[in-house]
Amino acid sequence: MENIQIFSPIDNEKLGEVKAMTPSEIDEKIARLNKKFKEYRNESLLKRVEYIKAAIDELEKNEEMLASLLTKEISKKYSDSLDEIRRSIKISRYTIEEALHLEMEAYSGESLGSNQVSLVIREPIGLILAIAPFNYPINLSLTKIIPALIMGNVVLFKPPTSGSLVCTKMVEILNSKLPESVLEIVTGKGSVIGDYIVENKNVKMINFTGSTAVGNRIKKIANTDRLIMELGGKDSAIVLEDANLELAAKEIVSGAFSYSGQRCTAIKRVLVVDSVSEKLTKLIREKVEKLSVGNAYENKDITHLIDKKSSDFVMNLIKDAISKNATLVIGNKNDKNLVYPTVLDNVKSNMDVYTVEPFGPVLPIIHVKDYDEAIKVANESEYGLQSSIFTKDTKLAFEIAKKLEVGTVQINKKTSRGPDNFPFLGIKNSGVNVQGVKYSLLATTNIKSYVMEI
Ligand code: NAD
Repeated sequence: MENIQIFSPIDNEKLGEVKAMTPSEIDEKIARLNKKFKEYRNESLLKRVEYIKAAIDELEKNEEMLASLLTKEISKKYSDSLDEIRRSIKISRYTIEEALHLEMEAYSGESLGSNQVSLVIREPIGLILAIAPFNYPINLSLTKIIPALIMGNVVLFKPPTSGSLVCTKMVEILNSKLPESVLEIVTGKGSVIGDYIVENKNVKMINFTGSTAVGNRIKKIANTDRLIMELGGKDSAIVLEDANLELAAKEIVSGAFSYSGQRCTAIKRVLVVDSVSEKLTKLIREKVEKLSVGNAYENKDITHLIDKKSSDFVMNLIKDAISKNATLVIGNKNDKNLVYPTVLDNVKSNMDVYTVEPFGPVLPIIHVKDYDEAIKVANESEYGLQSSIFTKDTKLAFEIAKKLEVGTVQINKKTSRGPDNFPFLGIKNSGVNVQGVKYSLLATTNIKSYVMEI
């Protein structure tokens, strides 16, 4: 089978090649992992932590090389690439600390009868399949791989095609310090090898981040029902009459346009009450005008989208909205896959951008008459990842937050993942189960109880 050539989305420079792995090559990796699991599961937690600490230290030594490859491969501006790697290293270390402090439960005495003692322990579950998307290929793989390995599991890792080179490098570095065959990478197009790995009966759990479409397919065909899924989103920023509009505009522009909107938790629509919509739109426009557009190497704010298909998708959403009488505030311009930041006002439910996830630099503004209508519109979405509320009335913010069908509500802040030690989840079509340091550790284990007569 042929290799897959990887080109930079920035200038189409050929960056390298990865193997399009065949089923028999994948089977070999799975066999190696399964064989190793029998031994690795019996290593002590302290020993596993020792390997993983050394592996993370090694990553840190290579952070600049990895960041520069990340910038080239997925067109993320260099400072953000470096930030992704540093943040991933930090959270990996935090995960190690958390694992060392996980409590083991023990029961004795009254609850069991005075001559019995019971222990509740956690065991690794085996081979875990980790699948990551292109937008945070380091962060969204390490936050799956590290907790699984700490708890004694082995990992088969499928990186995104755009991101395969940097992920291959990352795995090489990790594996220089980890025991052989506890972590294997499988490269190839998801559309070609995805079903084969997902259906494999040796896979005991799947930890997937990516689109809702692929997530739904995995749910359907997986051979395990142990799934963690972080999927698409349509996060809304609700702006009320009494909001600090300057703050709201600042947070909204940063939330909507960092990494050119290619973030699951990007703000993907503004729901603003009519009375302040004009003022807010003006402030948003002023801030968007200041965003620099261009090359990720030069640390521009808005950089090339991952491919031409994505920019065509975004430009079509913009054109559809304008043809249906949305007001163009700024933007509606592209140069190949470089899409200029675009803001659309008076967006209505008959326009595609009202409902779909653009994954690009376009921000629809929707007018509502009050917060009840804002809640209704927010909850109409198939997605339920996050939502922001901008108001000075904290009590009201909490009342609204209670009614929003999302995993996380940010008050007077943009939507985003974090703090990193928090649980992270989406509901409805945005996810299944929970990630986050402690949750990710526990999710990769089975509970076993021992009861002893003494
Ligand atoms: P994608 O679904 O196209 O791909 C994700 C991963 O799945 C890639 O590694 C891909 O190769 C693989 N894949 C593709 N088809 C497969 C199949 N049939 N079986 C198994 N694996 C398969 O997503 P993407 O374009 O890389 O990422 C963008 C999407 O990810 C957006 O929808 C975004 O919202 C979502 N996302 C969600 C979160 C979150 O935490 N909720 C975080 C980041 C990205």
